[in-house]
Amino acid sequence: MTITAPREAAGFADLQLRPELLAALSGLGYEEPTPIQREAIPHLLDGRDLLGQAATGTGKTAAFALPVLERLERAGEEGARPRALVLVPTRELAIQVSEAFHRYGRRMGARVLPVYGGAPIGRQLAALRRGVDVVVATPGRALDLIGRDALRLEELRTVVLDEADEMLDMGFAEDIEAILAETPAERQTVLFSATVPPRIEQIAGRHLRHPVRIEIERPEREAGEPPLVRQRAYVVDRAHKPAALGRLLDVEAPAAAIVFCRTREQVDELTEMLNGRGHRAEALHGGMTQDQRDRVMGRLRAGTAQLLIATDVAARGIDVEHLTHVINYHVPSDPDSFVHRIGRVGRAGRQGVALTLAEPREHRMLRTIERATGLRITVEKIPTVADLRARRLELLRAALRESLLNDDLDPYRAVVESLAEEFDVMEVALAAVKLAQEADGVAADEEEIPEVVPRRPREDRPGRRIARRGGPDAGVTRLFVGLGRRHGIRPQDLVGAIAGEAGLHGRDIGAIEIADRFSLVEVPEATAARVIDALRRTTLKGQKAVVRRERFDRADRRPR
Ligand code: AMP
Repeated sequence: MTITAPREAAGFADLQLRPELLAALSGLGYEEPTPIQREAIPHLLDGRDLLGQAATGTGKTAAFALPVLERLERAGEEGARPRALVLVPTRELAIQVSEAFHRYGRRMGARVLPVYGGAPIGRQLAALRRGVDVVVATPGRALDLIGRDALRLEELRTVVLDEADEMLDMGFAEDIEAILAETPAERQTVLFSATVPPRIEQIAGRHLRHPVRIEIERPEREAGEPPLVRQRAYVVDRAHKPAALGRLLDVEAPAAAIVFCRTREQVDELTEMLNGRGHRAEALHGGMTQDQRDRVMGRLRAGTAQLLIATDVAARGIDVEHLTHVINYHVPSDPDSFVHRIGRVGRAGRQGVALTLAEPREHRMLRTIERATGLRITVEKIPTVADLRARRLELLRAALRESLLNDDLDPYRAVVESLAEEFDVMEVALAAVKLAQEADGVAADEEEIPEVVPRRPREDRPGRRIARRGGPDAGVTRLFVGLGRRHGIRPQDLVGAIAGEAGLHGRDIGAIEIADRFSLVEVPEATAARVIDALRRTTLKGQKAVVRRERFDRADRRPR
């Protein structure tokens, strides 16, 4: 086991960012730029247009947010008109992106406003009047605010189209065109998209000037000797990640594992959480001195520590021979770093295991990694409480067998003999097993970790087309929404509301039919109840709608 010096690569300090931004990044525990950040930030600081192919999980948000903030003059000025507009497909993303801007730009006084449908417009109008530097908006609400003369774009320097493919899938193409028509011709335009189909090329061709192109996916990359590692991934909501990690560690019971996180803060938090659960975990990150790191590695080598929680930077160059598992607590930001991470196990011909926890939005990054590395990653279900119990019993059985074969059990003979006068020996053994299991720290209150409905791959997904007559496909449910064309409803309004309010991915929403007085929309059966509930709670074009599963009249198969 050795520690070598980290590989030389441009750090944040090389990126010509102002001290307030650098301080914010270090405060957040970011140790180094991700590849997309390293490549995109210098061009964006130069004012170049950019077409970036990057999915969630690559660090793309900071890749555009940091240059936008760096280029802000007079941040926080009273009554200022926005200098940057970021268009995003969903409310969820609007909030997430504006929080990111806030975290990075707070120290320089930057004011960021998320605007999206479904939220009271009054507060957004007031904030715009007071002055904002950056607006992060869904297209529909942005157009609405432009129409009211509340969102004034004449001083914009930068427009970012984030998750552009998703926005097109959700039917926002016209809205985007209309918004761009309101922006100054000399603006900087930045487009990020997970995929670059012809429709995205067309938009880029029309609106970007001599763009720099950056791809994070390099499928033609030379695939070296693939390591002997079994790849498994689990899709879980962020809120359930700590529990999911705990469950996996309990079931896998690794002899020695390394758990990768993105930031120092996450390393510290996770280390504390795992130690609290009875694991022997040690943190390793770039904020520690060489001396501290050496001691951590010493404890891992001696077996007094079983888990190493680390950032990529800190783990670079370490070599732990008996490592059995690599766990990606976050999806790595690019395929190369995935390969580096899993290269820590499966050495010397032994089989290793690599487990990756992905949030639903990061599902696509898994496919990107698969394509770029040629490795197969199977998505599996998080073990249930029953799986965990079965596994613990299996481990206990193995331990008992070991003890029967090897230990001197004579000192306990008197206990069993005296009980055997009163009970059957089998009963005595059962009670002993029960006590042993409980002493092992079996938590009786383990809760199930909810399963996330995986997204269907693109090929299987129904496009935005007119609904067929008759019932929808298996696994798909058609919902009746009591508002239609005469209420001003368009497909993108339904998609926006469902994605925004029920958290569905745009492409999971199937065929939509808008009739005069009602609409029909297909959603995955597993999400139907959530969508109905969310749509009932919100408004569409300011109106409450009756929402229910579609019922058929058998005679003509028209909804009743
Ligand atoms: P994104 O791909 O923009 O959705 O970012 C994914 C996650 O990575 C977010 O939680 C960011 O806070 C985090 N992140 C972005 N850049 C870095 C970095 N350089 N180091 C560590 N974490 C980062």
